[in-house]
Amino acid sequence: MYIFDAPLKRWFSQLKRKLPWREATSPYRVWVSEVMLQQTQVNTVIPYFHRWMERFPSIKDLSNADVDTVLKAWEGLGYYARARHLHKGAQFVVHRFQAKLPEDQKKLLSIPGIGSYTAGAILSFAFKRRFVAVDSNVLRVIARFFALPFENTLLHKKVEALLWDILPKNQPYISMEALIELGALVCKKVPLCVKCPLNAHCSAYKTKATHIFPFKKKRFETTVLHRLVAIIDYKESILLKQQTSGLMKGLWELPYIDTDIEQIEKGEAVFMELFSLPMRFMEKWPCISHTFTRYKAILYPYRFRASTHQLLQECTWVKKLRLSKCAFPAGHRTLVHKWETQPTK
Ligand code: SF4
Repeated sequence: MYIFDAPLKRWFSQLKRKLPWREATSPYRVWVSEVMLQQTQVNTVIPYFHRWMERFPSIKDLSNADVDTVLKAWEGLGYYARARHLHKGAQFVVHRFQAKLPEDQKKLLSIPGIGSYTAGAILSFAFKRRFVAVDSNVLRVIARFFALPFENTLLHKKVEALLWDILPKNQPYISMEALIELGALVCKKVPLCVKCPLNAHCSAYKTKATHIFPFKKKRFETTVLHRLVAIIDYKESILLKQQTSGLMKGLWELPYIDTDIEQIEKGEAVFMELFSLPMRFMEKWPCISHTFTRYKAILYPYRFRASTHQLLQECTWVKKLRLSKCAFPAGHRTLVHKWETQPTK
């Protein structure tokens, strides 16, 4: 489809961003970058990508690392299941495919954590094959360009089908990547149509209907969680819990309990009763908040000092020196860092 493809490729060759995974492209680098870019901005991903590649330069290196090291390298990026899947995926690739990502869609889809978008991206950007990879950027551009009156899964299917039709035979991987770039830089939520190489033929632009497409998805409402958090130390150790399931699996957290807004002032009494540990209350710290998936957690920190470091069910005393090896969710990391750096009373 010349009216679509030629101006798009021209625009891309002149204005595409210089991104580390576009230089020295390899299937592994595309895989890692695509997983990191899910739910995370490009500028945030770039330093993580560089560090990751230094630390785990190959699939084999990633597969040999222990999960704590992998989570630590991911710390701060959020959505930690992505890191666990990459790690599991690397082990799978080593065992099944001799440490090489296969150039085959079915085989790629058999790897833990690789879905149709990532498989398409690897086949297109790394193996230079004619494959579609539909992310939210592509969805936006195509839905607007063709004024597609669909939503959710149906829209996704229609866009995929259309792309299979219009992707050129000549350098299809450039068109695919250019579409993603156009969605990221020009056809954004509020589109910059006057700068768009496709505006002469874009249905939504011509009918002044860019705000209608794509049809909006219903969004989850954010759930607010109120959490009493205990910072309990004994000399140079702090009491932590490593999560064994759920969204935070593998990450370390301060012990906490969920409560309701009426109980947030009662942390001292609550923890004194909860822990069968000789300890005294030191102080209350200002609350902080952090968000993950569709939750906003408000943390109400209460600091205690224990007079023994007896073992407690599900919790572990972790020495200050070992903390740099533990990965934490954002809010807990802030509190642990504050504990680490403040002078001992
Ligand atoms: S003209 Fe506007 S709406 Fe159409 S593809 Fe370009 S940026 Fe998107």
